[in-house]
Amino acid sequence: MSELAYKRTNVYEKADEKLMKEIFDYAEGYKAFLDAGKTEREACSYVEKAAIEQGYKPFKFGQKLKAGDKVYYNNRNKNIYLIKVGTEDVAENGIRIIASHIDSPRVDLKQVPLYETDGIALAKTHYYGGIKKYQWAAIPLALHGAVVRADGSVLEVNIGENDSDPIFYISDLLPHLSAKQNARPLAEGLAGEELNIWFGNIPYTAAKEDKDKTVKENVLRILNEKYGLKEEDFLSAELSLVPAFKARDLGFDGALIAAYGHDDRVCSYPAYTALFNEKSDKHTTMVVLADKEEIGSEGNTGMQCAIFVDLIDEIARSFGASSAQVRANSKCLSADVNAGYDPNFRDVCEPLNSTYLSCGAGLTKFTGARGKGGSNDASAEFVGEIRKLFNENGVIWQTGELGKVDQGGGGTVAKYIANMNIDTVDIGVPVISMHAPYEVVSKADVYECYLAFCAFIK
Ligand code: MN
Ligand code: MN
Repeated sequence: MSELAYKRTNVYEKADEKLMKEIFDYAEGYKAFLDAGKTEREACSYVEKAAIEQGYKPFKFGQKLKAGDKVYYNNRNKNIYLIKVGTEDVAENGIRIIASHIDSPRVDLKQVPLYETDGIALAKTHYYGGIKKYQWAAIPLALHGAVVRADGSVLEVNIGENDSDPIFYISDLLPHLSAKQNARPLAEGLAGEELNIWFGNIPYTAAKEDKDKTVKENVLRILNEKYGLKEEDFLSAELSLVPAFKARDLGFDGALIAAYGHDDRVCSYPAYTALFNEKSDKHTTMVVLADKEEIGSEGNTGMQCAIFVDLIDEIARSFGASSAQVRANSKCLSADVNAGYDPNFRDVCEPLNSTYLSCGAGLTKFTGARGKGGSNDASAEFVGEIRKLFNENGVIWQTGELGKVDQGGGGTVAKYIANMNIDTVDIGVPVISMHAPYEVVSKADVYECYLAFCAFIK
């Protein structure tokens, strides 16, 4: 191919021994983060601890910041902002922002979940985010979350991750009796109201009255003895079922990682580790780990919350600068995953404009659906600036859209940040089986994404 033509670079093809070691070593830290942070609450507290170890201090509204300050704002234990104040003029140079999200699709318990039928105690659910419901049956599930008891005390829940813990389960039909189910469209393979969680099977035979000799009563007894809970406590609880799988290397060569929740912890980990490891003190840098991206970035922990601009206002005010000027001069990498090219389903991908596994960080100029609808379409000027930056710093990167035109589509937090008058472009790691209980990424892409973020903030 002539030197005038564009060609993607495969990281593993190009990597020397040193880079290979860096890629594989970096993946170990990422896998530990995945296993410790399967919900936004857990990821938030994991990163908060790491930030404190790095010398970050909690930020209080009204506090005056100065160059060299490292602060964090833990927003309701679900969303965290990390801010490193640089030495250059923040009005003239703005803030370098990297924004990713730490919530992932899953299955949440309803507020009155418990019931019993035909001798089985079950729990009703309402799924969170865009899942293919049939994928969540017949796999081990762990229960994570928080329960606020009647007295206001909070019980943190994490059951099903240790080998000695029980797991939970959604049943599916045996193939022998599935003739009618097999005729359902795939999207209805399991209906929303069929995502019921198996909780127990032993009746409470010690009950005084016959009506209490039930499996549900026995489950309530166990919950009360072990955790001091009553059924009403579920009304003020956030409990989620997530896959009880650990992150594992995939394939004989270990090039890939299979795990729950790569979307979007696979960008969150490079974002905050780049901030911690990059020693340059020039730029003011903000890393946002947002909640609620999977349901539209709504609410007071999502990217649409005013707290994002409030924090920029606080930085501006500290230096007597105009917040509007700071935002106008800020730049943002919206760090989220893209669909990796899957040879098993190549008919939905357009080969020229797909992101390929192990070909580096994937830059996505626009997302959206049906004619780029709902997308932040980054300007050629800003994409050009980022292209130059990555190329000058030896970052291996590629570009791609989410599938063929009119095949579907998706969105990220990019547009909410761009709407605040901040140059923003999407960049992230290609994922296979996105939103499935077990997703796949390449270690090489995770590391190149980290190098891309380091180049952006140094
Ligand atoms: Mn995402
Ligand atoms: Mn997603």
